[in-house]
Amino acid sequence: MIWSLSDIQMLGSIHDLVSVDPTNPYIKACYKGDGMTITVYTSNKVVLQGNNVSQWLDHHPSIAKLVEHQSSNDTSIISTFPQAGSDEVGTGDVFGPVVVSAVYVDSTMLDQLKNLKIDDSKVIDDQTILSIVPTIMSICPYSVLVVDNPKYNTMHQKYNLNALKAILHNHAYVKLKEKIHTLPPLCVVDQFTPEASYYRYLNGQTNIIHGLTFKTKAEHQFLSVACASLIARYTFLKAMDQLSEQLDIPLHKGAGKLVDQDIETIIERYGFTMLHHVAKLHFANIEKVRTNHA
Ligand code: MG
Repeated sequence: MIWSLSDIQMLGSIHDLVSVDPTNPYIKACYKGDGMTITVYTSNKVVLQGNNVSQWLDHHPSIAKLVEHQSSNDTSIISTFPQAGSDEVGTGDVFGPVVVSAVYVDSTMLDQLKNLKIDDSKVIDDQTILSIVPTIMSICPYSVLVVDNPKYNTMHQKYNLNALKAILHNHAYVKLKEKIHTLPPLCVVDQFTPEASYYRYLNGQTNIIHGLTFKTKAEHQFLSVACASLIARYTFLKAMDQLSEQLDIPLHKGAGKLVDQDIETIIERYGFTMLHHVAKLHFANIEKVRTNHA
């Protein structure tokens, strides 16, 4: 995030930060605290990193407020690293899997990620996603879970959609933890249900990741969530391509009129039961044709 000059000057007067000499010409100032570093770039971009950032912000409400305020403005991505984030896609699409991803980002990865211009994830089109995501995958440790349609349809009989999402996000963090051994203090879920409900849905699960942070529209505020959203979307797009190829029908995303046409074509060519394998059966699009074919 970019800070104002007076905000940056305030950093110099904080008693538990020590000013250290910048290590490269793009760094204007650098402050070290216990288990954390604050770097001020010549662009006035400020990056907070280290394992104690969250605790430190608890003791410095004025800075925390600044971080919060900056992150609520859509154009900035919260700069507290390391961080992990998770997001899901496919829940609003009749065809194709539900995909959940969790991604770890630390400050050593920022320069490489910056070149990909991920900050604008909300406006990134499918073609760009296909071209940049392999690079994100090569930079950041990540986990990705794909729930194909047969599995989704079975699970959906047992769990409601939010319960299903909670189980998947939790599992994505379990998988990410297996890769990086320790999750960072800041792990952000793109919020789909309040925190209390999230953990209630996980009752009975064997391995539950606690201490997550829940934020709505998190993909616009946290680079790790933006990356998770992109990796999930990429995986979803690839799966849709594969299904389209298998059926020899270019399947549409979403749940609109074009999807209704695709459903008719599938039933015509392959019969209703094919929908079990390629579609989410609880959608109204399927319900309205079910009576004629089931
Ligand atoms: Mg989301």
